Amino acid sequence: SYRKGGYHAVRIGDSFAGGRFIAQRKLGWGQFSTVWLASGLKFGLMRSVIWMRLVRQCKYVALKIQKSAPEFVQAALHEIEILSAITENDPKNEKCVVQLVDHFKHRGPNGQHLCMVLEFLGDSILHLIRYNRYKGINLNKVREMCRCILTGLDYLHRELRILHTDLKPENILLVSTVNPSKDPIRSKTPPILERPEGSLTGGAAVNVIEKKLKQRARRAVAKIAAERRGGVPEPKPERCLDGIDFRCKIVDLGNACSADKAVAEEIQTRQYRAPEVILQSGYSFPVDMWSFACTAFELATGEMMFAPKPGPGFSEDEDHLALMMELLGKMPRKIAIGGGRSKDYFDRHGDLKRIRRLKHSSLSRLLIDKFKFPETDAREFAEFLTPILDFDPENRPTAQQCLQHPWLRQTETKTG
Ligand code: ADP
Ligand code: MG
Repeated sequence: SYRKGGYHAVRIGDSFAGGRFIAQRKLGWGQFSTVWLASGLKFGLMRSVIWMRLVRQCKYVALKIQKSAPEFVQAALHEIEILSAITENDPKNEKCVVQLVDHFKHRGPNGQHLCMVLEFLGDSILHLIRYNRYKGINLNKVREMCRCILTGLDYLHRELRILHTDLKPENILLVSTVNPSKDPIRSKTPPILERPEGSLTGGAAVNVIEKKLKQRARRAVAKIAAERRGGVPEPKPERCLDGIDFRCKIVDLGNACSADKAVAEEIQTRQYRAPEVILQSGYSFPVDMWSFACTAFELATGEMMFAPKPGPGFSEDEDHLALMMELLGKMPRKIAIGGGRSKDYFDRHGDLKRIRRLKHSSLSRLLIDKFKFPETDAREFAEFLTPILDFDPENRPTAQQCLQHPWLRQTETKTG
């Protein structure tokens, strides 16, 4: 990908926009871009008063450097347009969606790259899930993150009439409360050590290298112990999540679109894809709500809600529909047979053609039996999620309605 039309290769210390930004370390990457932590000059030549204030506040920024081929430039221009609307309509920066500080072009050996200067955020909640060893995060913290995600979705949907179309844990970042130059993770880690596992901004500041060495030693000891016990691994202890700020923001508006111009047929990342997208029945805001419910489940359990795989005689799509119906009940016939691709999967009775026997369960049973939730927690969480996972998109609650749900409101005054 580091060739003509592809990514721009960055070295630590490289300067951008005539020296206004200096690359510090890689923060992440996606299909279209690499993203770098950069220190910004305090007084740049800014385009507007709002941006001037922003740049002064965040001395550190995230520099998203797009691939240079024309289709990526086009996509970046579209993303910049959407990010500008997001930023202009949220002057207090309180709507839980990432803000654009500035943008510019950068010429390199692989071509001309559009660069977005974004406010600097922390690790994604996918990193948080991994860091927590896929054990599922305390429900009070999940609630706090859900409130932020829904605030962001409500803003995008109701005020801007934008669909995100790719909501998932990777695209939700924790809000970094730590100055990256003072944060031991960010400052002591050699920049070549990309995204060491367990690097979390926002207070869980530990020396990552030291930790890695200790981890390795512990693993070696555990292996010997396991061999003595006949190969049964010892369960891993819980991670401490104290001191992490669970506020988060929605990022990656690269696939976002206006609700009236939703044209792409295949949207969303597989596991977070809504049934109406698989069946091609037309889509709107409720697709983001579906992805939100899948994300909330993953935060609370550490496992993806639906992880479909193709099998003998059936496709990934068909397995996905089967998994949905096993957990959420039979799809109403009207919905099952109403899509452009319904005939590929369903017979005229609304039964799957190739997967005939479904193992029915329910969300609360799954939470109790598999994830060992206490009964009340399971029931309340399932009551919150189930309406958002309605097969009929028109029945799904909006982000605004979800924000009013008792499950989210119940601990607003409690701490923890
Ligand atoms: P793409 O459109 O190429 O998928 P993203 O916008 O999703 O790019 O960014 C890729 C990765 O870069 C993210 O998953 C995240 O790890 C990191 N990243 C993106 N934006 C920021 C930001 N504002 N602050 C910190 N890290 C970021
Ligand atoms: Mg992405």
